[in-house]
Amino acid sequence: MSEFIPDDKIADVRNTADIVDLISEYVVLKKVGKNFLGLCPFHAEKTPSFTVSPEKQIFHCFGCGQGGNVFNFVMQYQNLSFPEAVRFVAKKYGIEISARNMSAAQKRKFAQREKLFQINEDAVDYFRKALVDTSSGERGRKYLAKRRMTPEVIERFWLGYAPMGWNNIVRYFSSKKVPLDDVETTGLVIAKKGGYYDRFRDRIIFPILDIDQRVVGFGGRSLDNSLPKYLNSPETPVYHKRSILYGLHANKEMCRKAGSVFIVEGYFDLLSLYCHGIKNVVATLGTALTQEHLRILKGYAREFILVFDSDNAGIKAAERSLSLFAEEKANIRIVILPEGRDP
Ligand SMILES: [Zn+2]
Repeated sequence: MSEFIPDDKIADVRNTADIVDLISEYVVLKKVGKNFLGLCPFHAEKTPSFTVSPEKQIFHCFGCGQGGNVFNFVMQYQNLSFPEAVRFVAKKYGIEISARNMSAAQKRKFAQREKLFQINEDAVDYFRKALVDTSSGERGRKYLAKRRMTPEVIERFWLGYAPMGWNNIVRYFSSKKVPLDDVETTGLVIAKKGGYYDRFRDRIIFPILDIDQRVVGFGGRSLDNSLPKYLNSPETPVYHKRSILYGLHANKEMCRKAGSVFIVEGYFDLLSLYCHGIKNVVATLGTALTQEHLRILKGYAREFILVFDSDNAGIKAAERSLSLFAEEKANIRIVILPEGRDP
């Protein structure tokens, strides 16, 4: 059952990859003597005990005992099997591993994920074009102007528009000969008796990307405050809400530079801050902040500023998050926003 990747291929990947370079994408590392030191992503700690040795190409945590080579790190951090980790690292460094080496089940799983990413990417193209290039996009453009979104932000976050009508996306993917049951798996269309219809209609579209820059899902904001104001993709094989933070893909370098990160609730909270030059910001999108979220964020910053609404729900959410931050031994400040904002 297990996938076979030839030993020389594995050695190839291991020799090409640089463990400091790779782990740095997920953990803030500081050079100390010959080694690099950071906060362990695998257990809660305030003083760094996670070391990476460029010389030996291994990592080790003196706090929890986790350690190993570049593949062990990826297996732990991304929750992958060994062959999947080898592939993950290979892809990062542009090394080709043929699919011949995969078992049938792995091939199916891998192919399905790739297919879903591709559909999501094609949908991003469609929504962005609809916003910029079509007369129906005028509604979306006007709305974004009203929300004072700058062209830079629209471009940077790939904002788009889902036109009015029940089957724009259905027709778009039909014309590309993409099976609609695959499109349904991404959540972009919904099955009904004998057919499909678009989930997102007459909405501003926010593509949701993971830290590896892949499109995992979408959010949609109604233009006329019709309910629900916000609609999100469901959980899918590529969209796991517990571990996705909106905006981190675009803002991670800024978080790292600032050493701190603002955590807000919604798309426009994040985009408005960004428009005002505060770029070290991520959004939880209505899901309560999870331990996974926090462990990911600790790879980019040491200090967290939670920004909440002053309504009851906001204050409850702030309280819940406090205990989480205490458990994770993270530095935290809380900002409660004044009332009367437009979500
Ligand atoms: Zn540890």
